[in-house]
Amino acid sequence: MIKIKTPEQIEMMRESALVVSRTLGMLASEIKPGANPLKLDKLAEEFIREQGAEPGFLGMYDFPNTLNWSPNAQVVHGIPNNDVLKDGDIISVDCGALKNGFYGDHAYTFEVGEVAEETIKLLKITKESLYVGIREFKVGNRVGDVAFAIQNHCEAHGYGVVRELVGHGLGTDLHEDPQMPNYGKRGRGKKFVEGMVVAIEPMINMGTRRIKQLNDGWTILTADGKPSAHFEHDVAIVDGKPELLSTFQYINEALGIETNEEEEFRKSPIIL
Ligand code: MG
Ligand code: MG
Repeated sequence: MIKIKTPEQIEMMRESALVVSRTLGMLASEIKPGANPLKLDKLAEEFIREQGAEPGFLGMYDFPNTLNWSPNAQVVHGIPNNDVLKDGDIISVDCGALKNGFYGDHAYTFEVGEVAEETIKLLKITKESLYVGIREFKVGNRVGDVAFAIQNHCEAHGYGVVRELVGHGLGTDLHEDPQMPNYGKRGRGKKFVEGMVVAIEPMINMGTRRIKQLNDGWTILTADGKPSAHFEHDVAIVDGKPELLSTFQYINEALGIETNEEEEFRKSPIIL
């Protein structure tokens, strides 16, 4: 059942989303060659608690940490350890926070030092596909419209779109209805209405879309060992249109990237 949010609840969800946005922004300054994942995980936990929130993932389904930490060929659900970051790595960081009874849940894939050109392109296209998908999240459209837009954009570049893991509704539960796959057909699936809040999160592989799981029961990685990217935003439908609750603004500021997210969103390629 899809749980529709009131305008007041959406404002509370924005605060939960922004706790995560600020945490990812804080981490952006710390992510560099030599950084220790477990130390950053602890830092993130403290930073979330300082904002009057709880880590959303810690203990959820028995997950042991605050961050999902997925380097290189890991797609999602990686567990932070003592393997320090190396020059040329990419690192997907997914973070959750619970504040005032509502979850925030969003993610970004960072470059560590000097990253290969083709990997930078994977990150760029995956981030673009997030915006392309978000633009379809509006009253009257359906789940398949977002899904198709993301799939079409990524497959046009020859990338593999992961099927087994999907975005989701968000609210007092971390995972609510509807499921938001990153592949599908236009005009299919649940219809979007005012007050829906979802996490849209393309998980895109440079090579095959096939994945495998480590026997830690968590870590998902690409079957061919090639890199994978993951970008996620929390989005509400307000006045019929998509409204970002989370933001990459803190990350952009930390990395010295001068960009206006609204503009990037508007200018992202139109799917015809
Ligand atoms: Mg997430
Ligand atoms: Mg999510």
